[in-house]
Amino acid sequence: MEFDLIERYFKPLSLGLPQGDLSIGDDGALITIPPQHQLVVVTDTLVSGVHFPHDASAYDIAWKALAVNLSDLAAMGAKPIGFSLGLSLPKACAESEQWMADFSQGFHDLVASTGMSIPLVGGDTTRSDVLTLTVSAKGVVRKGNAILRSGAKAGDLVAVTGVLGEGALGLALALDTLSPELKADLSEQEKRSALNYLNRPLPQLAMGQGLYPLVNSAIDISDGLLQDLGHILKRSSLSGGKSLGAQIELNDLPLSSGMRALIDKEAWWQMPLSGGDEYQLCLTVKPENWQALQALAAECEVALSRIGEITDHAGIELTLDGELFSLPDSAGYQHF
Ligand code: ADP
Ligand code: MG
Repeated sequence: MEFDLIERYFKPLSLGLPQGDLSIGDDGALITIPPQHQLVVVTDTLVSGVHFPHDASAYDIAWKALAVNLSDLAAMGAKPIGFSLGLSLPKACAESEQWMADFSQGFHDLVASTGMSIPLVGGDTTRSDVLTLTVSAKGVVRKGNAILRSGAKAGDLVAVTGVLGEGALGLALALDTLSPELKADLSEQEKRSALNYLNRPLPQLAMGQGLYPLVNSAIDISDGLLQDLGHILKRSSLSGGKSLGAQIELNDLPLSSGMRALIDKEAWWQMPLSGGDEYQLCLTVKPENWQALQALAAECEVALSRIGEITDHAGIELTLDGELFSLPDSAGYQHF
């Protein structure tokens, strides 16, 4: 039974490894690492009812599970070379051809959208009452060239790709927590685009692979800008032995037109500052590399916005039009 599932729905995703390497079908996969490179391994688990609603589509579940992994590789500056899948599958999913086909298609279409070869190289399949997926993506980066959270320096510019708050807006729409009045301010197109952004994030892989040697540190925004920038500050302070903080100008945050409408009405800065599910890159860059980073973003057709800078004292300071601004609750998504 399980064997049939693997042959039918997973084997077709396993093609594309170089000659001599081995993907699905043996006890383990064999993958050649190019000389002078390091293997980058990232893992993310998604549990039904926790990380996606029980009625989420199989297609979106697969897309997102792989996308969040590839986003971690992008933030490390790595090139993806494959992924594995630990799958705990309820009987109803395993027995639905439609569900399994959609699930497999979600992986396929995300990989196709990257334009890269990212085969499914193996995994494990078990039965469970709760659908749970653990995807582990593998990537490579030239030895010593990985981008770490720990490299930020005082005086670095802080920049982000794409727009902020769109994942949080999508989630508010999916959970229907916006008031009818606020919802009325959003066009159908804005609502569709926020939901699509939530369900089918696009990892910034091309940009990620060009980050070395331009940026000092990077992280992908999964738990909200403030929390994730906080991780950069913590790791970089520890590694440099000096307290670091950041100053962020709210007017410089890149917003979609839908998010802009909500901010204009309700000053809902929590969404772009603390909303999770962004999967954009937050980067810190020496001012003299800023132009080159802008050129890279233009080449990758990615929006890049400078939103503030790294300071030499602890804490993240927010300003609005240059005036200090304090946020009622500035925490990112809390896992526990
Ligand atoms: P084993 O008994 O050695 O664990 P399995 O029967 O679990 O082997 O798996 C057979 C093959 O199918 C292996 O190559 C494994 O990597 C692959 N495989 C199993 N489950 C999955 C999955 N969910 N996704 C991708 N490959 C899988
Ligand atoms: Mg097994």
